[in-house]
Amino acid sequence: MCSRESAFSCLREMGLDAMEYQAVRAVPRRLDRLAAIARRAAANDIRMSLHGPYAINLASREENKIEASVERLIAAARAADALGAGHVTFHPGYYSGRPPEEALRMAMSALSRAVREARDDGIRAEFGPETTGKPSQLGSLDEVLRMAEEVDGVWPTIDFAHIHAREGRSISGRSDYARILDLIEDRLGTLDGLVIHFTEVEVTSSGVGERRHHELGTGYGPPFDPLAEEMASRGVRWLVISESPNLEADALKMREAYERARRR
Ligand SMILES: [Zn+2]
Repeated sequence: MCSRESAFSCLREMGLDAMEYQAVRAVPRRLDRLAAIARRAAANDIRMSLHGPYAINLASREENKIEASVERLIAAARAADALGAGHVTFHPGYYSGRPPEEALRMAMSALSRAVREARDDGIRAEFGPETTGKPSQLGSLDEVLRMAEEVDGVWPTIDFAHIHAREGRSISGRSDYARILDLIEDRLGTLDGLVIHFTEVEVTSSGVGERRHHELGTGYGPPFDPLAEEMASRGVRWLVISESPNLEADALKMREAYERARRR
């Protein structure tokens, strides 16, 4: 494990070149501290992204909760700018008993408000709704692609473990990754710069939805190697973030698998 103090030089020595800053409980208000982190990251050539607060629900039944979510999202994007992170990952929210299409439309309307206000404030970070792991959460692959298609400034975060879990263990090999990546490319026009989250994941006993994350190689799936092969065959840039309980070690395994696939 890299320590907090020497995080970036430690990552660099391991051969890693990206980190996601976890602002999941609250967004730091001290932008000067984030700027200091940004300088250390840049000095070690580490690319940053930021994970926004879990307490975001753009489809809440309570109007004031939607407003608070929009504010949190803008604060996260402002923090991302200070951190030198171009991308803010966030979970869009919950269906809250609404039909999925209605929840999606509400979320897209709140999201476009957040992007507009952020841009008015000179904030540049892109907004990255994440594919989510539980069927109660807004965030199927189709829904995050709709958000990216219909709201300017939105570029999704593709969490394969979450897709696998919410689709009832849908990913077993390379053709499954090809299907997902083809769909993203068809709908968004490119895969270049795609932000990917990856871990193996245990699915609940009902067969649908994530229970908990597991280390690579534990056999829960989805498997990483076929994804590495599919990515290597496509010749674009990716930002891959490890979400495994063994964060850096598994990030390194993923990088090695990708480099192996590229040499083939
Ligand atoms: Zn997430």
